[in-house]
Amino acid sequence: IRLYVEQGLGVGQSIPLDRDQAHYLFGVMRQPVGAYIALFNGRDGEYLARIVEAGKRGGVLECETQSRLLQMPPDLWLCFAPIKKARTDFIVEKAAEMGAMRICPIQTEFTNSERIRRDRLQAHAVEAAEQCGGTYVPEVADLQRLDRLLDAWPTDRNIMFCDENLAGAGEVLGKATGDKWAILIGPEGGFSEAERKRLHAFPFTHAVSLGPRILRADTAAVAALTLWQTHLGD
Ligand code: SAM
Repeated sequence: IRLYVEQGLGVGQSIPLDRDQAHYLFGVMRQPVGAYIALFNGRDGEYLARIVEAGKRGGVLECETQSRLLQMPPDLWLCFAPIKKARTDFIVEKAAEMGAMRICPIQTEFTNSERIRRDRLQAHAVEAAEQCGGTYVPEVADLQRLDRLLDAWPTDRNIMFCDENLAGAGEVLGKATGDKWAILIGPEGGFSEAERKRLHAFPFTHAVSLGPRILRADTAAVAALTLWQTHLGD
């Protein structure tokens, strides 16, 4: 069993559990006093902790040994225009599993969604890290407008601009270099001509095709993450 906690972790550290965590560990998973649980907080690696107190409304774990060091993912952002709730949840979950460092929901000219529940999406990122054995949890940023994001874009961060208009004729990512990247995926309606023009004008943009078919944004996000990890991941 792996559990995400907010507190700092270290050998000898006591970790008090809240009601929900106690319900999960002792009620759902039926873990007794003395059992060992793997804990991570996204910052300190992973620790094996022993259950020292178990109750209905709480409990206490004690960290005994560090089982894994923190493994930072590559410096990769996934920027995407939120679509329907379930599909947006899927994108966040897959980005966390596939090793994005930061997840940035963006509003483009044709984005339908005006707001997101950042806390809900962050909780999905935590669950995905819990499930896939990651020691790092990507941060989900607030929804930001693409034009504002591009106004302040750091010139040392490459953009993998995924555009179905390239119809199989995009740049070959294998020739690209650099260790700071952002994947950019558009909304259901795609990018506007003005957005395309602006993105193509940046020297750090790499316009990439994901094949000759038009993929749904959630499929495109997974395909783009796979392509990036294959060519530039560790
Ligand atoms: N504008 C399109 C249309 O309505 O015909 C659809 C956009 S697609 C559903 C959503 C996003 O997925 C695009 O903005 C792009 O970022 C990405 N995408 C989908 N298929 C792609 C492909 N073959 N190559 C590169 N990116 C793709």
